[in-house]
Amino acid sequence: MGLIIAANWKMHKSASEAETFCRELRRREKELQGVEVLVCPPFTALAAAAEVLAGSSIKLGAQNMFWEDKGAFTGEISPLMLKDFGVSHVIIGHSERRHILGEDDAAIRRKLEAALRHGLTPLLCIGEKEEERDQGETGAVLERQLRAALEGFEPGAFKELVVAYEPVWAIGTGRAASPADADNAAVLVRRLVEQLWGSEAASAVRVQYGGSVNAGNIGGFAALPSIDGALVGGASLEVDSFISLILAAREAAGC
Ligand code: PEP
Repeated sequence: MGLIIAANWKMHKSASEAETFCRELRRREKELQGVEVLVCPPFTALAAAAEVLAGSSIKLGAQNMFWEDKGAFTGEISPLMLKDFGVSHVIIGHSERRHILGEDDAAIRRKLEAALRHGLTPLLCIGEKEEERDQGETGAVLERQLRAALEGFEPGAFKELVVAYEPVWAIGTGRAASPADADNAAVLVRRLVEQLWGSEAASAVRVQYGGSVNAGNIGGFAALPSIDGALVGGASLEVDSFISLILAAREAAGC
């Protein structure tokens, strides 16, 4: 299975900064061959990014969305609005949304249902907080988050599903998890997907690692057969560091 590497810019970059980044990324598109590359700008920069990336192999993702198609939901963005810009992927349940903005498992579930309805590929984020890890609860937390998100969907419901293991304590801290932690999480994800939907679905789901990943440490994750890519925050903000990370991942994965 190929690598999928996604840039999550969070609340960074104006439309013109996004345009400059995407222009440069597109100019260097040949270097990215063999890796599925995805850029997730803030909503306000989607149009600029979409215009530059149209017709390229670089895909466009959103960082979040609401679950309804339209209505009286001030400040929210619907799946249809995203699709209007050619968005194909959407990050759902990022830890900053769970823990800073109060998004709960039920909301995440509704967003997954909406993604499924509209043919958007979800990047479902799961991950434990530091105190949960210290108390030996990592496995239980990941299982709870996954069950709440996925239980009840029909096998084969998602054409594509990406699960990003992002320990909360590793995001934006410069303190990445170890490849062994990521491997354990990926094994847990596939075990649970197998329980829910069978072995074919378990081998089709792609698992990313995210949390202070950069060109220097991605190799340890990408070399693992269980890891299919990365969700990248800080190291995705500059084209050079993002491309260096992609190249290092590809080399480690041997693809
Ligand atoms: C993220 O935004 O999902 C992330 C993992 O951020 P960082 O790479 O900066 O830790």
